[in-house]
Amino acid sequence: MPLTRRDFAKLGALGLAARLAPSLNAQTGERKTGYAVIGLGRIAGHFMGGIRNTTNSQVTALVSGHRDKAERIADQYGVPHSSIYSYEDFERIAENKAVDAVYVALPNSMHAEYTIRAAKAGKHVLCEKPMSTSVAEADAMIAACKAASVKLMIAYRCHYEPTNLKAVQLIREGAIGQVQAIESAFGFNIAAGEWRLNRKLAGGGPLFDVGIYSLNACRYLTGEEPEHISAFASVIDHDGRFKEVEENVAWTMKFPSGIVASCNTTYGAPMNGFFRVHGSKGTLEGAPAFNYDGLHLIGDFGGTHLDESNPARDPYQFQAQAEHFSHCVQNGLDPKTPGEEGLRDMQYITQIYRSAGISI
Ligand code: NAD
Repeated sequence: MPLTRRDFAKLGALGLAARLAPSLNAQTGERKTGYAVIGLGRIAGHFMGGIRNTTNSQVTALVSGHRDKAERIADQYGVPHSSIYSYEDFERIAENKAVDAVYVALPNSMHAEYTIRAAKAGKHVLCEKPMSTSVAEADAMIAACKAASVKLMIAYRCHYEPTNLKAVQLIREGAIGQVQAIESAFGFNIAAGEWRLNRKLAGGGPLFDVGIYSLNACRYLTGEEPEHISAFASVIDHDGRFKEVEENVAWTMKFPSGIVASCNTTYGAPMNGFFRVHGSKGTLEGAPAFNYDGLHLIGDFGGTHLDESNPARDPYQFQAQAEHFSHCVQNGLDPKTPGEEGLRDMQYITQIYRSAGISI
């Protein structure tokens, strides 16, 4: 029998409600989607902050190798200590009815394992980008979620972000005419010692990590899939950081309409993420386009000068992304960025690496 709000109030007084189910959405009276967060690092912090601002989602469990850290975070988010799991006893999460979905915020090479384990435990999966470190892993993740009848969404937050969405809308409406060319880049100067420099954990270098934003943006801005790709990669700084992964990648993509895109990514320079779209009637530029906040859209087309800043502050993108996935879970809908979207990027990353002469 479904529990009423009053039942929950009683259980809450006994301290049991959180272990049984997430609280209710104050606006709709519906049960919130409960998330287990796997990996309590930097991005998980943004995500949990975003969840706190939603009306339809709640953090209900944590998975971590560091019990002290997990207990501290559990207290901040009202997660009972009985809902903290280690990586080893993760499968016990299947019995936790307060967990509807997991959010995988681990190093890239662990995404496939935890997505598949979560699916087998009957939980929906919101997995960070890049989806995986290979096409074969991405295929296996999609298959595992299908077999378990759970949803899989890749955390492409820009698909839920108003500045990026407005750029897509303007392009589709023809505001800048026929798109001819796109430039995009994203990179940063990486510190030594990061797991991102370990090929086994990261899968590759900046292309997997931040170049993927440019790759994905060229696809959503054009609404097309690239049919030809060529690339170069290089290492300039022989200071020990780039023994396992590349430092720079530059690649070009030709789309079926003839649109050509040129992209760069690096771990050797502070390269503020942007896109610039050149159309027959003018230009549209997102700069920055991929940051957590402070996004800015500038345009000059058909006599219009557009200059818009998005005032929303971090973690609004993580809120929007979680709200979307929870809405899909609650209403049996397919997410806008399913596993197949992540798989396509993995296929293009593979082609870029092959063209650049990097084995993958
Ligand atoms: P991080 O290093 O801050 O956190 C990683 C977490 O994984 C830590 O809690 C760490 O303890 C845990 N972990 C478990 N096993 C580990 C191992 N063997 N080695 C290292 N850490 C291990 O990393 P992050 O920046 O939060 O990145 C996590 C994932 O999120 C990556 O896939 C990354 O690409 C993605 N990410 C997405 C965004 C975004 O905007 N969507 C931004 C940053 C990172």
